[in-house]
Amino acid sequence: MSVRLRSEALFAESLKHTPGGVNSPVRAFRAVGGTPFFAASASGARVNDVDGNTYIDYVGTWGPAILGHAAPAIVRAIQSAAERGTSFGIPHAQEVTMAQRVKAMVPSVDKIRFCNSGTEATMSAIRLARGFTGRDRIIKFDGCYHGHSDGLLVKAGSGALTLGNPDSAGVPAAVAQQTVVLPFNDPEALRAVFQDQGRDIAAVILELVPANAGLYLPQPGYLALLRQLTRDHGTVLIADEVMTGFRLGPAGAQGILELIPDLSCFGKIIGGGLPVGAFGGRADIMDYLAPLGPVYQAGTLSGNPLAMAAGLAALEALQSTDAWSRLENLGAELEQGMVAVAKAAQIPVQFQRIGSMFCGYFTNQPVWNLADAMHSDRARFARFFHGMLDRGVYLAPSQFEAGFISTAHTSADIEATVRAAESVFASW
Ligand SMILES: *Cc1c(COP(=O)(O)O)cnc(C)c1O
Repeated sequence: MSVRLRSEALFAESLKHTPGGVNSPVRAFRAVGGTPFFAASASGARVNDVDGNTYIDYVGTWGPAILGHAAPAIVRAIQSAAERGTSFGIPHAQEVTMAQRVKAMVPSVDKIRFCNSGTEATMSAIRLARGFTGRDRIIKFDGCYHGHSDGLLVKAGSGALTLGNPDSAGVPAAVAQQTVVLPFNDPEALRAVFQDQGRDIAAVILELVPANAGLYLPQPGYLALLRQLTRDHGTVLIADEVMTGFRLGPAGAQGILELIPDLSCFGKIIGGGLPVGAFGGRADIMDYLAPLGPVYQAGTLSGNPLAMAAGLAALEALQSTDAWSRLENLGAELEQGMVAVAKAAQIPVQFQRIGSMFCGYFTNQPVWNLADAMHSDRARFARFFHGMLDRGVYLAPSQFEAGFISTAHTSADIEATVRAAESVFASW
C-alpha cells in the first residue's frame, strides 16, 4: 500500500483554510473515503504525488489533458505567449485564429465567443437562448451536469430528487422552477413536455453523451427526435460539449452522432489545460450577444492569450496526428481487458465506452440513464478505486465520473491497468 504521509499532512493543513480542504468538491474523495493525494507534478500519462508515488492517470485533469500532462507543444506555446503578454483586455490575433480553427472543425459553429470556464459557457448559452426566443423555461436531463450556475444545478448528476427542486442549497426555487428535468433516453417524456409546453421552452441543453453520472449513450433515434421537436417548437437546442468536444472526434459528439445543434458549449480540451470556455453556433442567434444584440455577456480575461495559445496547440496536435483513431484503439484495448478480467473474476460490471471515455458500473443491468446508473454498487466501486490507487492507477474518485485516456497512454499502460484490476478482483 502506498504511503501518503505528506499528502495527509497537507490535507490536514488545507482543511483549516479551505472548506473541505479542496477547491472543487469531488477532489475531496468523499465518495470513496480516505484522503486525496496531493499532486507534485504530472507528465504524459502519469501524475506524481508529494510522497513520491507515481500513478497512471485516467482523470487527465477531468478531461483537458487529452495529449497527456505537460505536453511539450502546449508548454512551448504557453511560454512563448507569456513572453508577449499574459492578458491584453483588447482583441488579439490568436482569438481570430482560434475561432477559425473551431469553425473549421465543428461545422455547426458559425460564430463563437470565448469565456473562462465551461460553467460560463453553458450559463451564457442559456441566457442567449432566452434572449433570442423571449421565453424563460429550459429543459435539462437527469444526471447531465452543465456547470454550477443556478438554473442548471438541478438534478445535475445526483440522486433521485423531486422535479424542479434545487439540488444545491442557495438556488432560488423561482429559478429552479424554470428548469424542467427529464429522464435521458425517454422519448415519451420528451414528447409529452413539448406537447404540453413546447411554446414556452427557450432551450434544451444536454450532454449528447452524458458523462457526469458515469457514462451512457443516447439510444438510436433519440437525438433525432430531440432535434425534430426543438425545431418544430422554435426551441434552441444546446449541445454541451464541454467534455466531449474535440475528444470524441474533430467535431465532438455531434460529429459522430450526426446531430446539428443550434448552439454548442466548449471547455476543457479547448483550453489545453488553462481555464477556458466557449460557446458558439448559428450566427442569427450569436448576433443577439452584446455589443451587436441585447444579451449581455463579458469577461475581463475572456480570449486570454495564454489560454488561446494552449488551446490552439492542443487542437493542432490532435488534428495533425489523427489522435482520435489512436485513442479509439487504446480505448478498445482497455475495454477488452477490463471486460475479460471482470468476467474471469465473476464480478458483474457494465463497462461503458465511447472512444477515449469510459466508465465501469458494478451492476449486471444495462445503463441508459441516471436511474440505471444508481443501480451500481458504489461501496464496491470505492473498494475498487482504492485497490487501483494502491496499485498505481488513478481513476476518478467517484462512480459518477467518466475516465479519460490520453494520447500519452501506451498499450503497456493499458495492459498494466488491466493487470491491476485483475489483482484487485483476485484480492476480494
Ligand atoms: C466540466 C463540465 C462543465 C463545467 O465546466 P467547468 O469548466 O468546470 O465550469 C459543463 N458541462 C460539462 C458537460 C462538463 O463536463
